[in-house]
Amino acid sequence: MRLKHPLLILPFLILGCGSQKQVPETALESITADDMKKHISVLASDEFQGRFPGTEGEDKTVNYLTEQFRLIGLKPANGDSFSQEVPLLRLTSDPDKSLLIKGGKTALTLSSPVDFVGWSSQTSELINIEESELVFIGYGINAPEFGWNDYEGIDVKGKTVLMLVNDPGYATSDTSLFNGRAMTIYGRWTYKFEEAARQGAKAAIIIHETGAASYPWSVVVNSWSGSNYSLAVNGIAESDLQMQGWITTDYAVKIFESAGLDYNKMIASAATGGFRPVSMNLKASVSFSNKAINILSNNVAGVLPGNKRSDEYIIYTAHWDHFGVNPSLEGDSIFNGALDNATGTAALFELAEAFVNLPERQDRSILFLAVTGEEQGLLGSRFYVSDPLVPLNKTVGVINMDALNITGKTRDMAMIGLGISGLDDYMIQVLEKYGRYATPDPFPEQGGFFRSDHFSFAEAGVPVLYPSSGVDDVKRGIEWGKAESDRYIA
Ligand SMILES: [Zn+2]
Repeated sequence: MRLKHPLLILPFLILGCGSQKQVPETALESITADDMKKHISVLASDEFQGRFPGTEGEDKTVNYLTEQFRLIGLKPANGDSFSQEVPLLRLTSDPDKSLLIKGGKTALTLSSPVDFVGWSSQTSELINIEESELVFIGYGINAPEFGWNDYEGIDVKGKTVLMLVNDPGYATSDTSLFNGRAMTIYGRWTYKFEEAARQGAKAAIIIHETGAASYPWSVVVNSWSGSNYSLAVNGIAESDLQMQGWITTDYAVKIFESAGLDYNKMIASAATGGFRPVSMNLKASVSFSNKAINILSNNVAGVLPGNKRSDEYIIYTAHWDHFGVNPSLEGDSIFNGALDNATGTAALFELAEAFVNLPERQDRSILFLAVTGEEQGLLGSRFYVSDPLVPLNKTVGVINMDALNITGKTRDMAMIGLGISGLDDYMIQVLEKYGRYATPDPFPEQGGFFRSDHFSFAEAGVPVLYPSSGVDDVKRGIEWGKAESDRYIA
């Protein structure tokens, strides 16, 4: 871990105390690279076992967070506790299963996880889908504001919907469709499964395509063929679908062929406004055993009360969780998660300490919130929004930190979702004051704005900021910075 100058977090400090004031040295000086390093090396140590929710790694992480918040001088945010329990379900469906497609020219058997992955958010021990009618539903989008409804004219109750990933704007690069190449919420798999459930479908299957998904099939397999997590509402899973799943493009082509449909023509027509869902005259069947276990995880939160408008809150968030341990890996099997997101969690401590060190208390109260289950679908932040520790209508802004800059000082700062939030202007002003500048999301087609915890708050109408690393390296220039960023991602 190279961590030279965690300077990028300084502007947040200024934002928190009002952009006009000068930040006193005592507060600034308390943010140090050494402190960041110390926290990161504890959180990302092997002892913390990759900080997976519901494990001993969680206990250690939650204890460390609590201890640090207390030492810094924050107040518990949940009565006399720093913890907020987050009820989760761990759902494990038998990976050894097949999806059968019958009724067409040839009967098809898709094997998991080579050709398809499927899982259930239901708590029943056996999932059995028998001869459910297969409907091609285009992009599976019902978006009144874009005048778009892929479900128009069909009742999908009890049926299995088959759909494309991303959205028509991405597919056509047409800037008049959705948000052009930049992904909208309608392009996210989370939305697609939720909408299918709202429409009453029995099962929902997304056709994988590497470019449109922004990740290869191996990521689909790694993400969904083991255990999956869901928020538990009264011990019950959130989704009404019997099965969610993905299939490979290769098998999608075969399924369309079997139905006597031209795959390329169908996907082209799905990206046009006149698209109507197509009943494929095929039946889908799948049966597998399923195990649901209740888990209690924790968000950890501390408050620094404000001086003048203490009923109003600014929230700094960072997810503490990472991917845990994969015992099937030889040698080092621990996913330590130093960057993602021990850096953001360490920054919570450093910011809290800096605010505490201000000679004059800031006006608004500040909640420092370390959330669980981000990697499993923003679960901790979604739970927080459904059961907030301070009122959402008194939460004036949320600043999320997820994987900070580790390459060195940069002139720029990427602001994921630039243009969406009224908070942007404050951030831009602060950057300018330091001779720096804001840039938009470098990969808008990947939908980064929907992929970390600030999004849970944005959905609830709270203004959010999600700053990310720049590439315009102060010493080595922009080409070096870009190459370094590519090197890390590769
Ligand atoms: Zn992260």
